[in-house]
Amino acid sequence: MNRLLALFFLAGLLILFIVVGHQANRWQGTQGTRTSRVLAWLHDPGAHPGWAVRAGERCGQAPFLLPTDGFIGFLWGDSFRPSHHHQGVDIFGGNGINWTPVVAAYPGYLKRLEDWKSSVIIRIPDDPLHPSRQIWTYYTHMADSEGNSFISDEFPPGTSEVYVEAGTLLGYQGNYSGDLYNPVGVHLHFSIVLDDGQGSFRNELEIQNTVDPSPYLGLPVNAGMNEKEIPVCPAVREQT
Ligand SMILES: [Zn+2]
Repeated sequence: MNRLLALFFLAGLLILFIVVGHQANRWQGTQGTRTSRVLAWLHDPGAHPGWAVRAGERCGQAPFLLPTDGFIGFLWGDSFRPSHHHQGVDIFGGNGINWTPVVAAYPGYLKRLEDWKSSVIIRIPDDPLHPSRQIWTYYTHMADSEGNSFISDEFPPGTSEVYVEAGTLLGYQGNYSGDLYNPVGVHLHFSIVLDDGQGSFRNELEIQNTVDPSPYLGLPVNAGMNEKEIPVCPAVREQT
């Protein structure tokens, strides 16, 4: 009889755990899922080989190459704090700083402002998906926490209008970030920025000045449309 009571008690506890766990998951939401995956990836990338994309890889017929190696942990439109929306994708190489290469996703004209330690931006005169408009591809976090740059020597501060082919080495992933409240691992932030109509780019820090990179990369990287799927090229997924 005592054993039966204990069994009932244990079963009750189990159900309680499942219900509470389920609720906690729902409260945590999609953002929590992505954050915990990033932590799992950074803890042991080797345990999740199927999560990674490869620098220079093209997903299907997508116009852009993947700009670096790693796990695409945060998507376009993710929210890290109230009223914030991520303007691009964060790709975590899973290695230390100055190790994982970053390449141009699409040909264009490279610019690096005088005070840019970790960033370059590439002007694409004809958006491959909307040929009448000019867009820009922005690559950042290519420096260490103190701002020592990992950008290729060919592109020093002040570089302007230097033509680069798709696949050109731009630099290496780093951990430079101006935001102390959101510490992140070594990664590349990649985004597509709209033109200001006067030959320059709009403020890349505002999501409304950027576009959803999904159709350009051939990957589901729009946070509003992708709750849980890990963005990798279909062929890669089949192999793993
Ligand atoms: Zn980012």
